Amino acid sequence: MSATVPYLIRAIQLNIITLEIKFVLCNVSIVEFFKDSGGLMDFKTVNSKKGLSKSAATMCEVRFDHHQVWRLHWNDFNVYESLNAAFENVKQNYENLVDIWTVNQELGYSDVRVSPSAMSFVTSILKPLQIVPIVQVENIQTLIDVQEDSSSLSNEWDNAGGSNFHKSYHRLSEINEFLDEKVKNFKGRAQKVLVGYSYEKREINGIRISGTTKNRKREIIFHGAIHSREWIGAASVLYIADQLLSLYGKDDLVTKLLNIYDWIIIPVLNVDGYEYTHTNNRMWRKTRQPNGGLFGCIGTDPNRNWDYEWSKPGASSSPCSEAYYGKAPFSAIEPKLMSEFIYNRREDVEIYIDVHAFSQLWMYPYGARCDKKVPEEKKILKAAQDGASALKKIHGTNFKVGGICKTIYQASGNSVDWVYARANVTYSYAIELRDTGRYGFLLPPDQIIPSGEELFSGLIGLAETVATQEKRW
Ligand SMILES: [Zn+2]
Repeated sequence: MSATVPYLIRAIQLNIITLEIKFVLCNVSIVEFFKDSGGLMDFKTVNSKKGLSKSAATMCEVRFDHHQVWRLHWNDFNVYESLNAAFENVKQNYENLVDIWTVNQELGYSDVRVSPSAMSFVTSILKPLQIVPIVQVENIQTLIDVQEDSSSLSNEWDNAGGSNFHKSYHRLSEINEFLDEKVKNFKGRAQKVLVGYSYEKREINGIRISGTTKNRKREIIFHGAIHSREWIGAASVLYIADQLLSLYGKDDLVTKLLNIYDWIIIPVLNVDGYEYTHTNNRMWRKTRQPNGGLFGCIGTDPNRNWDYEWSKPGASSSPCSEAYYGKAPFSAIEPKLMSEFIYNRREDVEIYIDVHAFSQLWMYPYGARCDKKVPEEKKILKAAQDGASALKKIHGTNFKVGGICKTIYQASGNSVDWVYARANVTYSYAIELRDTGRYGFLLPPDQIIPSGEELFSGLIGLAETVATQEKRW
């Protein structure tokens, strides 16, 4: 027997013990554990560095040391499709090794996160396609650490209404505390809204913000974090809630818009996933509902599970895919509850916005069909363009306006198509916030307020045009 064999056996034993502890403490399936870890090799690296005596929190946290984001330029749509197929194939076995962050059809590139252990393999996929990757982010973990440091500062915000609140990202409990505080401080103008309970029985909360006039109000509904890793969406809509409450009676246009529209804001729709991004895996996108079986991957893409053109191109049938469309339309409780919430008030809803990140886009239906145009495109487009130009006035940030399919990618079973086609809400949009790839999902906390400011201006611009087009004033 070689001298290295006992060490190898010991290493395997240690890995099994760690795996068992993690399985129990972190509430993950065995397969998810390996996939989260980016495969056994990354897992060994992490644990040999960190030791096995770390706290449960550290044990549960997936690290992204030296994971990079690569920008892959493709000139031809066929190349793009072969790339996607190759990545989907890798993900069948190792979910966490590669992960497409965004696609830019106009300029012809995809941004992809690549783990260190996948780099040579991905390079071998790129070579025959003649793609030379450009490194966009050197080390993802460094950016995650910056965001986490900001969250740990959150103890320092004086109270949920304090001015420091928007300087950092927050856990769900702090967001709920913020909503409660606003409802308490703005009696008669702010009401708590409960959309329902998530798969893991968390409350999906929102806030309804109104003017004091007694006329019939139409509604503007928007939510953030349907994809849990898109923290800037939640943070920006919270900033908007604050602005609407404090500017009523002070700013003419805001006051007028609150006298004709109730604004319903749900900061975090995918509450389970959002908590999971804080405790276990910063890059988690889907829900946390298991897909069955001890070895099954967890989660459904809550923006591919809506009952319009469900399971069509632009979504995946693989439970391990980031774009998994689920077992059936609305098999994930969170989009189902959101759809019921909207459907029940469809006579009143004038504008719906699903706030995502990142890529700086302002999009409308359809995502499922690239050949199908919305009949009211002229006025839908005009409102979006006015929104995007009001947004740009604040910090000069450009948002591209267009239909989902041609602007980002084909996406069937998405929220915006369903709200437009099934709830008959003409002004139904998906907005992708900052940035265009420098930080991607890991936007530093000092950009929360600028992002909130420009989105606020954009939504006011949008609402003003819609109110005019629909003769609401
Ligand atoms: Zn998203």
